[in-house]
Amino acid sequence: AQKRYADLRDLPATDLSGKTVALMMNAGLMADLPSLMNSGADGVGLFRTELQFLIRSRVPRRGELAALYKRVMDAADGKHVQFRTLDIGSDKVLPYMKPQDEPNPAMGWRAIRVGLDKPGVLRMQLQALLRAAEGRPLSVMFPFIATPDEFHEAKAALLHERDREAARGRPVPAVLKIGAMLETPSLAFAPDSFFEACDFISIGGNDLKQFFFAADRENERVRRRYDTLDSAFLTFIERIIARCDVSHTALSFCGEDAGRPVEALTFAALGIRTLSMRPASIGPVKHLIRRADLDALRRVILEARKAGAQSVRPAVMAYLATL
Ligand code: PEP
Ligand code: MG
Repeated sequence: AQKRYADLRDLPATDLSGKTVALMMNAGLMADLPSLMNSGADGVGLFRTELQFLIRSRVPRRGELAALYKRVMDAADGKHVQFRTLDIGSDKVLPYMKPQDEPNPAMGWRAIRVGLDKPGVLRMQLQALLRAAEGRPLSVMFPFIATPDEFHEAKAALLHERDREAARGRPVPAVLKIGAMLETPSLAFAPDSFFEACDFISIGGNDLKQFFFAADRENERVRRRYDTLDSAFLTFIERIIARCDVSHTALSFCGEDAGRPVEALTFAALGIRTLSMRPASIGPVKHLIRRADLDALRRVILEARKAGAQSVRPAVMAYLATL
C-alpha cells in the first residue's frame, strides 16, 4: 500500500468526473516541512503556531518567530501556507501565563479571545508573520472566531500592522489573505457581510463537531459517540458550503476528519474542494478520491438523507463497495 501511495505522490486528487480536490497538510514544526514534498501535499492548509510558545519558558521574541516563519515559507518553496494565529487557552497553559482556573477551558478564554483581550502577543505575532513574508504572499487565519466582530477586530489589527510596516518602508506581502476558522456553530449564521469580508474560511472540524454535538473532544467516554457522517452534521456543513459559495469565499476543512478517507471523500462529494490533514493521510485520501465519482456519491448521500438515515455512513460504505 505504501508503494501505491508513493506512486500517487505527483498525481492530483482528481475524481472520475474530473473534479480536483486540493489536499493540504497540517504542520506545526519546522520538522514537519519535509513532509510537504514527500507527501505530495499541495501546501500547508493549517500551520498551528502554538508549539513555539509551548516549548519555551518565556514568550518568544518577535525576531525568533519571524525567523521561524521565514524558514517555513522558504521550505514551502512557493507552495501555499496558511498560518493560524495562536490558539492557546487554559487547557494549553503556557509556563509563563497565569493559569486561569476555568471549569470549561475549551469554551473559556482561549484563542482569539485572548488575542483580542490582551493584544500584545497577537500583534507581535502578526508583525513576525509580515516580516517573515518579506513581500511574498501571506495567508493568516484567526482561530475560534464566534462572531463577525471578533473577525473584523482581528483583521483590523493585521491590516494596521501591515500599514505600519509599509510606513516604515519595509516590504509588505504582495497578496495578503485573511481568513477565519469556523469552529463554533454561531459563525455559520453570521450575515453575508461577514462571509464577504473573509478571503477564506477554514472549518475547524474538531472543535466544530465538539460544539455541534456538545461532546467534549478530549473525553474518551463521548468523543466517538457521534458520527461525523450524521445527517444533521452534514446538513450543517452543507449550509456553510452554500454560504461560502454565495459570497465566493474560499472554503477548506481542517481537523482530524479531513484525514479519514471516508469522511474526506464525503466532504468532497458535498462540495468542499480543499482538505487539510496530517501528511500520512494524503496518500490514502488521494487514492480513494481518484477511484470515486463525487457526483455519484453526492446523489447517494442525498438519497440516504431523504430516506431518513440518521447517518449516511452505511450508504457511503455501500457506494464504496461498488468501486
Ligand atoms: C480544529 O478544531 O479542527 C482544528 C483544526 O484546530 P485544533 O485541532 O488545533 O483545535
Ligand atoms: Mg480548533
